[in-house]
Amino acid sequence: MVKQVKGASAEKTTRAGKSEKIPRAQEPKPAVEGAGKRICIICQQEKDGYAVRNDIFIAAIRGIKQTLGIATNNVLVVCNDCASEHRKRRSGFEKTLLQYGVFGAIIGILLLAISLSLSGLLMAAFMVLFMLALAVIHYHPASEAQDKGVNAK
Ligand SMILES: [Zn+2]
Repeated sequence: MVKQVKGASAEKTTRAGKSEKIPRAQEPKPAVEGAGKRICIICQQEKDGYAVRNDIFIAAIRGIKQTLGIATNNVLVVCNDCASEHRKRRSGFEKTLLQYGVFGAIIGILLLAISLSLSGLLMAAFMVLFMLALAVIHYHPASEAQDKGVNAK
């Protein structure tokens, strides 16, 4: 992932100038983050595919990379070959997030019930956050592949 960006100076001009001229009607995929390569998030190859939806995690990762100066400005996609694998991972993550969230909430409520105090409340909130943070390890982004209900061939 940590690749040297070669055309760092050239990309600024394309973003400001030419991107406006592309007719929107013929481009169904949203042109996310300007002109980067379209990289599949599963096989890491440069391929066309379904756009990955921007969410808080992707925004955060992008923000960190930009701060560190290692942003690649690639457009993240899921290619056709990886669509079914992607959906498997995504639904797995959603399940994990739900389970950990519920589990954290139950433990939090128990902690709160045992000690009805401010520190109990803080512990409860901490438990929920901790469990959600654990779930994020399994993070996998959403994409347009799910909306369209793409059939795995
Ligand atoms: Zn792929």
